[in-house]
Amino acid sequence: MTDCLFCKIIAGEIPGAIVYEDDELVVFRDINPQAPLHVLIVPRRHISTLNDLSPDDDALVGSMMRRAAALAQEHGYGDQGYRAVFNTNRDAGQTVFHIHLHLLAGRGLAWPPG
Ligand code: 5GP
Ligand code: ZN
Repeated sequence: MTDCLFCKIIAGEIPGAIVYEDDELVVFRDINPQAPLHVLIVPRRHISTLNDLSPDDDALVGSMMRRAAALAQEHGYGDQGYRAVFNTNRDAGQTVFHIHLHLLAGRGLAWPPG
């Protein structure tokens, strides 16, 4: 998608602080971090929202969740805890319409969220 911020970061057209990448995922630091560790786990392929997933994407989403767990553990937060969340559309505050899994860790995270 030519007009998508995250597609541009993935393509290297806009700089991003990339912490992990493989053939299907790119992970970079959130520009406005809400916790000591706040990264975005993003598929290379453009998918606008969770509503646009198909059964063919099940393995991709599983890889995203398992990558969140791996990164949390690599950063030393596996035991103390972390949050992994997808925002979808207006009420959840989605602002970038290329799916991304937020991984937040390093402080107590309130529940329920705002
Ligand atoms: P959403 O609100 O869609 O769930 O999350 C979008 C996230 O992208 C926000 O947490 C926001 O701080 C982050 N973000 C917005 N623009 C940029 C950018 O240019 N670079 C990076 N690394 N993160 C961004
Ligand atoms: Zn995109």
